[in-house]
Amino acid sequence: MCLFCKIVRNEIPSNKILEDDEFVAFHDINPKAPLHILAIPKIHVDSFNEVSPELMAKMTTFIQKIVQEVKIEKSGYRVITNIGDNGGQEVKHLHFHILGGAKLKWDHFSDSDPQGHF
Ligand code: 5GP
Ligand code: ZN
Repeated sequence: MCLFCKIVRNEIPSNKILEDDEFVAFHDINPKAPLHILAIPKIHVDSFNEVSPELMAKMTTFIQKIVQEVKIEKSGYRVITNIGDNGGQEVKHLHFHILGGAKLKWDHFSDSDPQGHF
């Protein structure tokens, strides 16, 4: 079973913010912003490549609830989902990073491998 499936089942502890029947949000263990939350579906979906529009629609509502809960909807935030190797996805369970609490930089491109973009 994957790491985030274990978090869903409380087999691995996490600092949860919000939970309902289908989704859970918890603090990232290695925050890259003052506020760094992960939002995941309870069912295992490998990545954004596999998510259904129905689940994605509900995920959107869940993310909107989280940002209201932690009061960053006005100050602003960023929602990211990493996909595959080039996207830097380490955990193969669909998750959305919610980053906020400070003015965020926009510097995502590595110059280590400038080839093979497409
Ligand atoms: P990815 O790189 O796959 O997009 O993001 C995985 C995220 O999960 C990383 O930001 C990493 O810090 C976080 N993470 C990895 N293991 C754990 C864990 O055991 N608990 C929590 N709360 N976050 C984790
Ligand atoms: Zn999983």
